[in-house]
Amino acid sequence: MALMETHPFLAGVLLLKGTPTQDDRPDHGLDPVILQDHDKAFHRRLVCQACKELVTFDEARLEMNEKHSHTFFNPQGLVFRVACFGIAPGTMAVGQPSDDFTWFAGYRWQIALCNACRRHLGWYFSGSGTFFGLIENRLIEIEQEE
Ligand SMILES: [Zn+2]
Repeated sequence: MALMETHPFLAGVLLLKGTPTQDDRPDHGLDPVILQDHDKAFHRRLVCQACKELVTFDEARLEMNEKHSHTFFNPQGLVFRVACFGIAPGTMAVGQPSDDFTWFAGYRWQIALCNACRRHLGWYFSGSGTFFGLIENRLIEIEQEE
């Protein structure tokens, strides 16, 4: 006890270790761990509707604001059906992050293009974490036989 009184930092560490945290629980939000099992866990490929190159995986789907799939209007009045993914290795984010008309409060967006054919596939969002919002009808799911 004397040690803790004279070492406030140490006392803080001990307190943290003894307190259950939310970090141990599964999270339906942003989960960076998902990247680590990339090759093992992800099998169901979603490819670009235009060029058929890999965009992301079915297993990478996640929920934002408690929904996986969202319908949005852009400022021009176009409707997009957008699905959220933790990763999208087949895309490239272009432009500067912007919070103009952002669809997810607290997140800034960049346009996400297909790496292979440069088609606009959706948006890359960054804030307290990162995720992709991809336009559903620009992706095709491919079942792998294995
Ligand atoms: Zn493409």
